[in-house]
Amino acid sequence: MNKTIIVSNRLPVDLKFDDEKLVVKSSTGGLATGMKSVHSEGNGIWIGWSGLAQEEVSEELQVEVDEALAKEKCIQVPLTNADIDNYYHGFSNSALWPLFHYFQAYTEFEWNHWKSYVEVNEKFAKVILEHVNDGDTVWVHDYQLLLVPELLRKSNPNITIGFFLHIPYPSYELFITCPWRNELLQGMLGADLIGFHTYDYVRHFLSSVSRIKDVEISFNEISYGNRIIKVDSFPMGIDYNRYHDAALEHDKYLEDSKSDFMKSLDFHNKSNEESKLILSIDRMDYTKGIPNRIKSFEYFLNKYPEYKEKVRLVMLAVPSRENVPQYQKLKRETDELVGRINGQLSTISWTPVWYFYRSLPFHDLIDLYVSSDVAMVTPVRDGMNLVAKEYIATRTKENGVLILSEMAGAAKEMHEALIVNPNNFEQTADAIKTALEMPQEEQKERLAALQKRISRYDVERWAGEFLKALEVAKNTEPIQV
Ligand code: UDP
Repeated sequence: MNKTIIVSNRLPVDLKFDDEKLVVKSSTGGLATGMKSVHSEGNGIWIGWSGLAQEEVSEELQVEVDEALAKEKCIQVPLTNADIDNYYHGFSNSALWPLFHYFQAYTEFEWNHWKSYVEVNEKFAKVILEHVNDGDTVWVHDYQLLLVPELLRKSNPNITIGFFLHIPYPSYELFITCPWRNELLQGMLGADLIGFHTYDYVRHFLSSVSRIKDVEISFNEISYGNRIIKVDSFPMGIDYNRYHDAALEHDKYLEDSKSDFMKSLDFHNKSNEESKLILSIDRMDYTKGIPNRIKSFEYFLNKYPEYKEKVRLVMLAVPSRENVPQYQKLKRETDELVGRINGQLSTISWTPVWYFYRSLPFHDLIDLYVSSDVAMVTPVRDGMNLVAKEYIATRTKENGVLILSEMAGAAKEMHEALIVNPNNFEQTADAIKTALEMPQEEQKERLAALQKRISRYDVERWAGEFLKALEVAKNTEPIQV
């Protein structure tokens, strides 16, 4: 029986040694959820990195690691500390991530990082080839593995290969600045189907391919040698029911077991019922527009001073890539901005910005979503943004307004949000006012439309549609030469 192999940089399980004891943690992230049925079907497997550096795993521990992974139908690609530094922190996160998010000034093209990226992509391809049989399907995910499709195709032309990019694809003008643009495109073109979140990313990709490679393009099909490669958009969804159900059960959860974090918040305190809450949740990443958001909120309070003491911005920033200098700079800038605004505007009974630099467990996150009157999701660039969709899924009481950046992939499907340019403080401040004053009936109408769409196109449907399209792409007749 043919099988599907899922490939991503990280496995859906995270391994750690705690006092020489192996701890296995399963991921509840979007990708793991979307792939659940594909992964559990027949003899489907997932190939990726386990989170442990090779240096941490002695020979006897390796047996334990392999057994733990086998139970989860996972196979690891062993990576060394040098691989992680150069391929992951290096080329993936210091070159591709900033470049594809239009942060050209942050982009570092280092020959050593590139060399390691090629080597690690080869390591991934080698492990996949050890497990793949003719007729199998391989679905490769994301920017860390752009070279894998071509490496697989060269060694085994009898498999079906899909590739999905989870981040934006930049315009040609930006992409050509990469010294290895040709190799990266060549790598992706090994796939039978290449998927992106939005149609704009598809257009940018096709434009790069048509100018850099010798191909013919007709609609969403690339003719390359004697092959046809399909390119299309598949906007990724969330596990809608998980968020919606948790919100429905939230009142009960709150009564039964308030966590320390929830107890420490006074949203649930009667005396604060008049005060409105604006929510902001992201990884601490320069693409998320965190300083702009704080400045827009400050601008709003100064432009509409009647809102002072009546509204708070609750900002959860999850630590991310803390060893990269640009991320350290962003953290300093955010700390300073919050300090300045709170220092200038706070009163005895009111702190305008509540800032948490940590990650939260699922039910505390749900508490924040449920308790907020408005969510501000205003990245300066974002492939999709799942927080925007999660907020909508948790609105079970027909109220709540989403302010969404037009630079997030999600804006292409969530037209009923208040769409803003995150660099336009005037517009964003006015959107905050509009959100806070929006009549209940209008909130309800907008939410109903958003919820209908997001509950239909959930993450399982996303995975299903991609695989269906991959099946069609595979059956497309090769060009006769
Ligand atoms: N999230 C989390 N813990 C937290 C805060 C957020 O697991 O403390 C999750 C959030 O629910 C969402 C994901 O992190 O599913 C962020 O995804 P998004 O697409 O918004 O941004 P990314 O971090 O992938 O760029």
